[in-house]
Amino acid sequence: MDDCIFCKIIKGEIPSKRFYEDELMIVIADIAPKANKHYLAIPKKHYKLFSEMSEGDAIDLAKCIRKIGEIAPSLGLENGFRLVVNQGDDAQQTVFHLHMHLLGGQVLPEQNFKDR
Ligand code: AMP
Ligand code: ZN
Repeated sequence: MDDCIFCKIIKGEIPSKRFYEDELMIVIADIAPKANKHYLAIPKKHYKLFSEMSEGDAIDLAKCIRKIGEIAPSLGLENGFRLVVNQGDDAQQTVFHLHMHLLGGQVLPEQNFKDR
């Protein structure tokens, strides 16, 4: 997608702090960290929502998740991390290229968004 910021990052047209790359994904630092350690794992294929994925995309995403588990210690996430995917308006997704937030480097607050 020509106007997608993450596609541009993947192509190297926009700079990023890249911690990992393989044929399926890149892992970069989030530009506005929400935790002591905040990375984005971005599949190289552009799609916005889980509902848009093909079977092949699903297999690739599973491989990415497995790889995240493998490289987490090298990212300083050896004590654990939270994997977050924002989908659509209610989740306030802002970049419409599916990506996973890796949050950690601290004990994260309990999640309770109800009635806020
Ligand atoms: P989401 O709200 O789930 O779509 O998350 C988008 C994330 O991308 C936000 O946490 C932003 O801080 C992050 N972000 C936006 N632009 C950049 C960029 N150029 N480099 C790194 N992270 C970015
Ligand atoms: Zn994209």
